[in-house]
Amino acid sequence: MAKVTIVHRDNIPGYPSKYTEEEFQVVLDMVDEMFHNLGGIDKYIKPGETVVLKPNSCTYFGSVMIDKTTGEERVNLQGAANTDARVLAAITKLALEKANAKEVLTAETCAFDYHERWQACITLDVSGIKAAVEAVGGKAVDFNDMERVEIEIKKPANAMDKIKVPEILTRDDVVFINCPAMKTHSFETVTLGMKNYQGIFKWEDKLIAHDGKLSLKFVDMVRTLPPRLTVISGLWAVQGQGPIPMRGHDYMTITDMNTIVAGDNVIATDAVCARVMGFDPMEVRTIRLGAHLGAGPLDLEQIELSGTPIEAVKRDFMKPSGECNGIYPTVRVIEGSPCYVCKALVRAICDGLSFTFPLLHEKGEDPIFILGLNAYIPEDIRGSDKEVWVIGDCAAEHKNVTSNTHFYPGCCPMQANIELPGTIISKWKKLKG
Ligand code: SF4
Repeated sequence: MAKVTIVHRDNIPGYPSKYTEEEFQVVLDMVDEMFHNLGGIDKYIKPGETVVLKPNSCTYFGSVMIDKTTGEERVNLQGAANTDARVLAAITKLALEKANAKEVLTAETCAFDYHERWQACITLDVSGIKAAVEAVGGKAVDFNDMERVEIEIKKPANAMDKIKVPEILTRDDVVFINCPAMKTHSFETVTLGMKNYQGIFKWEDKLIAHDGKLSLKFVDMVRTLPPRLTVISGLWAVQGQGPIPMRGHDYMTITDMNTIVAGDNVIATDAVCARVMGFDPMEVRTIRLGAHLGAGPLDLEQIELSGTPIEAVKRDFMKPSGECNGIYPTVRVIEGSPCYVCKALVRAICDGLSFTFPLLHEKGEDPIFILGLNAYIPEDIRGSDKEVWVIGDCAAEHKNVTSNTHFYPGCCPMQANIELPGTIISKWKKLKG
């Protein structure tokens, strides 16, 4: 039977990337309790083994940062996008001191490969994770600096036959501990243990099956390369249009969730955590398909649950939405039949650009997006000189629909997520003068 535990405290002083020794002790006690509830740390880490912690270190934000304008320290709620540095440091310390691990590495790859600031060596540093794990004897490393090997996906595969992974995760004397953050996600409803696998791949392999098969890709990974343990850090958590809280949308960060959910099976751990966040696991595609395809259980009758009861910590997180049409009144979205990936991508782009929309509207420059197969193009756009953004291979037939069309090819057209906001922000800056 899969084992999952929930550990909660009413109050946790300090911040994920800034805390005193005394404040750290509170989290250390929680992680110690977590291992105890799951049968003891020795069950998961043997003396002399190398431990690899895979966090979610996806942004260049710390929870406490220096304000560029004032030069003073300020709390940055966007820091909730990363796995809590205290949780990683606590696992590192206990693995070294209690379980006598040989070494403990915290390893990540870049979330996006387009800019230096997204590289893991930068995000691990700015998020405070590097300093935290190194302070207790661990090491922070970039998977991109390590050897990769191609592995066959366990049969029957659902999304791919093989994929390259860091060689270290395939070794028998290495303990892989999956350490995601507790967050909502506009593509996948929540991003927990299953979605965290995306961070072990090189950029080009992240794009494999990054379409309607994305959830199945994670099912394949859980079945082929299961972690020994999944530890979801939810001391801070993200709700609404996750996975990264947007500047000015402070409600997205919950700073007093104060909870860790951990277990020996990814699907079971994600299913319990989804309930803690107020979701029915059946409405989360990754969890539903993982259970359906035999990677683990989602029913509580098949999970040995310990620690704080779900009902005592459960919150109704604001739900994310992948819909993009009709959300922002001044944005025109011309949809054919896009799948949820392109819709959620355009929604995420619009959420991040919403501050530009009032001025663009005032100047008669409302953004126009076209996506999906068989989109009907209104007459006032067809053949005009309006600036239009065409998203994804499904809409390729419209790549010259106006004399001022930007086309982002691909399935999924991930580069739109990085390049498109820059073009709209430049336009907004120009109009602002
Ligand atoms: S290009 Fe088409 S199939 Fe691919 S992600 Fe976009 S809408 Fe989906």
